[in-house]
Amino acid sequence: MSQLFLRYKPILISALLVSPVAIGGIYGSRQYEEFKREKEEKSNMISKDLESNKIDIFNYVNEFKALTRDQQLSRLNKINKVYENQKLNEQEKQEELIELDLVVIGGGATGTGVALDAQSRGMKVALFEKYDFSSGTSSKSTKLIHGGIRYLESAIMNLDYSELALVKEALRERSNLLNNAPHLSRPLPIVIPAYSYIDIPKFWIGCKLYDLFYPFHDIPQSHLQSKEQTYKEFPFLRPGLLSSVVYFDGQHNDARMNVAIALTAAQQGALTLNYTEVIDFIKDDNSSTTTTTNNKENSKIKGVIVRDRLTGKKYSVPCKAVVNATGPYSDSIRKLDNPNTSPIVSASSGVHIMLPGNLIPSDKGFLNPKTKDGRVLFILPFEGKTLVGTTDDPSPIIENPQPLEKDVEFILESIKEYSNPNVNLDKSQVLACWSGIRPLVKQTGVDKTSQINRSHSIRESSSGLVTIVGGKWTTYRSMAQDTVDVVASNNEIFTPRGCITSTLPLIGGEKYFNSLNQYLVKNFNLPEDIAEHLAHSYGDQAPFVAKLANENGSNKRLVEGYPYIEAEVVYGIKKEYACTAEDIIGRRTRLSFLDHDKAEVALPKIIDIMAPLLKWDKNRKDEEFKKSKDYLKTMTSK
Ligand SMILES: Cc1cc2nc3c(=O)[nH]c(=O)nc-3n(C[C@H](O)[C@H](O)[C@H](O)COP(=O)(O)OP(=O)(O)OC[C@H]3O[C@@H](n4cnc5c(N)ncnc54)[C@H](O)[C@@H]3O)c2cc1C
Repeated sequence: MSQLFLRYKPILISALLVSPVAIGGIYGSRQYEEFKREKEEKSNMISKDLESNKIDIFNYVNEFKALTRDQQLSRLNKINKVYENQKLNEQEKQEELIELDLVVIGGGATGTGVALDAQSRGMKVALFEKYDFSSGTSSKSTKLIHGGIRYLESAIMNLDYSELALVKEALRERSNLLNNAPHLSRPLPIVIPAYSYIDIPKFWIGCKLYDLFYPFHDIPQSHLQSKEQTYKEFPFLRPGLLSSVVYFDGQHNDARMNVAIALTAAQQGALTLNYTEVIDFIKDDNSSTTTTTNNKENSKIKGVIVRDRLTGKKYSVPCKAVVNATGPYSDSIRKLDNPNTSPIVSASSGVHIMLPGNLIPSDKGFLNPKTKDGRVLFILPFEGKTLVGTTDDPSPIIENPQPLEKDVEFILESIKEYSNPNVNLDKSQVLACWSGIRPLVKQTGVDKTSQINRSHSIRESSSGLVTIVGGKWTTYRSMAQDTVDVVASNNEIFTPRGCITSTLPLIGGEKYFNSLNQYLVKNFNLPEDIAEHLAHSYGDQAPFVAKLANENGSNKRLVEGYPYIEAEVVYGIKKEYACTAEDIIGRRTRLSFLDHDKAEVALPKIIDIMAPLLKWDKNRKDEEFKKSKDYLKTMTSK
C-alpha cells in the first residue's frame, strides 16, 4: 500500500494542488458554452434575416473602400512636389494636402499594426513596404495565436516574472485577434501525448495554469483525453500511450491576417504602399536647409526618401516621426540612420514543412513536447493540409532564405519519434517547405536562440528614429500600441482619440457570421469547399468576391484540388494591392505554402489573368514567370 502511495505520490500531490484550478475550470467551461451559444444564436438570426430577405447582404456588409495603389502614389507625388516646391496640377490642387505625422517602414505584422494604431487614433500615416505585405517573416510563422505553453513552462521553471508577464500579455492579445478577425482565426485544440505516468499530471497542471492565466471565456478549457480517443484521432502515434491532455490556443492565416491589417489601415485613411522601399532619411542639419544623411547621425529625422520598386521613381516624403518596423532588417535601417550604431537583432531561422492532410484531423493539432534538441514541435491542420514545425537556429539575415535539407530531415525525424513503425514518412511527401527569420532582441548570456525571451523592445535613436523589434505575431497589436504611445509623446502629436485597436474589427471581420459559407453555397451556387474558403479568407467581403466570380465567369478553380478561384486574382489586384504573381500564390491565396508543385502549375493561368489588368506585355509576363519560379524555389529544400 505504502509502495503504491510512493509511486503515485507526485500525481496525488499535483492533483491536490491543482484541484482549485480544476474547479475554476468547470465554471470556465460553462462560461465558454454560453459564449458559444450566443455566437451561434447571432449567426442563426442573421441567416434567417438574409433568407427571408429582411436584409440584403450587399447593404448589410460595408464594402472595403480605400485609395488604390495608383491613387496613393498620386498623393505621394503631390507630397513630393510640395516638398520640392514644384507646381501642382489642377487635380492635385483639389486633393487634400497630406502633411504626414508618421512614416512606418515595413509592412509585416508589426509595421501594419503600427500604421493601423496610429491612423485610427487620428494621425496621418504612410507605411512603406519594400516588397509585399507579409512577404517577410510574418507569412512564415507557425500560425499560432498563442501565449506560448512552452514559455509558461520556462517562466515557472526559472521563476521568471517577465516571461510570465509576456505569456499573460500574449494570452490577452489572443482574444483580440480571435474576436477582431473571426474569419481568419479559430480556437484550436492541441493534443499533448503522455507516455509516462508523471507526464499526465505534469502536462495537465501546465495546461490548467495556462487556462488560469487567460482572463476571458471565448475558448474552451483544457482537459484530459483517453488513449483510445487519442489513437482514433491520431492513428500514426506509436504504441505505449497512457493518455493525453488537450489544451486550446488560437490559429490564424498569418499572411491574410497581415493583409487585413494593412487594408484596415488603408480604409482608415493611411497610405499603405507595398513595393516601395525606404532608401534614405531626410535629416535636418540644424541649419535652415534640409539635406540627406551625410554623417549627420544626430540630426533630427525630418522624413524619408522612398523608391517605387515597380517603376523606379523616387519620392521625398517629409513627416514628423518615423518608425522602423522592419523585423530582421531593423539593424540595416538603424545603420542608415547612424552607421556607428550597434546591432540589436539576434536572428534565428525557423523551418516548416507541409504534408498531406491525412496525418491528423482537420480541427485538432498535436504537440511533441520535447524534440531531440529540447524544443517543441507542432503538427497542425492548416487549410486542409498538415503544417509541421519548427526549428530554431542562429541564422544570417538574408531575404527569402531557403530551408536546408537537414532541417527538413530533422522535422521528419521528430514526427517519427512519435509514430508507429508502419507509418511511412519521407521527403517525397513534403508538399512545400520554407524558412522564416525571427527578429529576436539580442540578449547576453543566452546560449541558444530558442532561449531568447520573445518580448519586444522599443529603441529611440538620437535623431528620433523609433525602432520596434522582437515580440511575436500574437502581440503585434500591443506592440503597436506601445510604439505609437512613444511616438505621440516624443513628437507631441495630438491625436483626437486614444488607442482603439483592441476592439476594432479588421477588414472582413465586422459582419462575419458562422454560417456565411452556407449562405454563399445557396446564393452564389458555389461548391462547398470554395464557399468555405471564401468565407474564411475574406470574411464579410466574401460575397463581393463571389459576385465578381459569377459576373465574369471567373468561378473556375486556379488549379485542381484547391478551392482557389480565378476571381481571387482579379479581386487581389483591385482590392488587396496584389502587384505580382508571387503575391497571389503566396499571400492572397496560400497555394505556394500548401503545395509547391500545384502553385507552379497555376502560375501561367494566374499571369494570364493579371496581364491585361496590369498592362503586362509578353516580355513582362516572361519576367513575371521567371521571378515567380525563383520565389517558388525558396519553398523547397532542393
Ligand atoms: C519560424 C517562425 C515561426 C513563428 N511562429 C509564430 C507563431 O506561431 N506565433 C507567433 O505569435 N509568432 C510567431 N513567430 C514570430 C512572428 O512571426 C514574428 O515575430 C513577426 O512576424 C515579425 O513581424 P515583423 O513585422 O516584425 O517582421 P517582418 O514580417 O519580417 O516584416 C518586416 C518587413 O520590413 C520590410 N522592409 C525591410 N527593409 C525595408 C525598407 N528599407 N523599406 C521598406 N520595407 C522594408 C521587409 O520587406 C519585411 O516585409 C514565428 C517566427 C518564425 C520565424
